[in-house]
Amino acid sequence: MNGSRLDDFLALSRAHPRELAPFQEALPDGSRVQVWDSGVLCIEPAVPGNRDLVLSSGIHGNETAPIELCERLLNAILSGRLPCRQRLLFIFGNPAAMNLGVREVEENLNRLFSGAHARGDRHNHERERAARLEQYVTRFFQARDGVERLHYDLHTAIRPSAYEKFAIYPFTHGAPYHRRQLAFLCSAGVDTILLAHGPTTTFSYFSARNLGAHAVTLELGKVMPFGQNEAGRFAAMECNLEQLISEPDWQPPVLDLNRIRVFRVCQEIIKQSEQFCFHFSDAVANFSTFPAGTLLAEDGAQQWFVREREEAVVFPNAGVAKGQRAVLMVTAAELSADMLD
Ligand SMILES: [Zn+2]
Repeated sequence: MNGSRLDDFLALSRAHPRELAPFQEALPDGSRVQVWDSGVLCIEPAVPGNRDLVLSSGIHGNETAPIELCERLLNAILSGRLPCRQRLLFIFGNPAAMNLGVREVEENLNRLFSGAHARGDRHNHERERAARLEQYVTRFFQARDGVERLHYDLHTAIRPSAYEKFAIYPFTHGAPYHRRQLAFLCSAGVDTILLAHGPTTTFSYFSARNLGAHAVTLELGKVMPFGQNEAGRFAAMECNLEQLISEPDWQPPVLDLNRIRVFRVCQEIIKQSEQFCFHFSDAVANFSTFPAGTLLAEDGAQQWFVREREEAVVFPNAGVAKGQRAVLMVTAAELSADMLD
């Protein structure tokens, strides 16, 4: 592949919202590389394996570590160091926000999927982007049937976390949880799994629900500026992704349920007005626990309490827009063998 076009692509995917003119080139091993849009690049081996993989990062523009991880994988493939044997779609989610070093330009992109981008009469950068990302993922997965569809949406959290790396497994509508997916996550150092309790407007839920993909949202640690992330902390994930991309027959080690910690969502607290406030410190880490009966938040006359024996907070943010989720409350859960496929 022409190096200058790759540089153009990477520069644009990181630093420029402008669209790149579509182009297509071939790698020495016969793989076809197509840029579909700014920050959207599809690689198709001449003889692809049986897993189609979407790797998305930068859905929140300041979550730099996953963007850097995906850039390393992409560079390794394009330079010939890493053979690509699976169809692969790289998505750098929000180049405009990445360019500004912010989480979002106007709206949280990860609340705009499953058609939410078209609800109401707002028009903005993130809504337009969500609509296009839905189309790209649909086009990518629907290009062929009968293969496993995987989507890893890579994020980092705003705050510290009692469990540094965790996955949010989208609501399955009663379908079993995928054993190999959990095994992959566990061997990639993601040993805490949060089971979602209902439909959402996140990217991973969209791919799971609409396209039958095994999709998860991954939180890989705390947000740092570009260049200040320690690659070593993501080594296990990077190594697993390299295996998945380059070895069609690769399988993660067999899942040991004793090695994963599972939570289920038990309440979702929605901000109703500007009076909304938490009754715990703003600096609290994800998965900090509170006993039954604790007053968690207030909004005018409304109050929220811990209802289970013990609940933990995930993603508390009193600064969200009205009508948005201010915090997820989770409680420890069991994943038994009969809940797996
Ligand atoms: Zn994020």
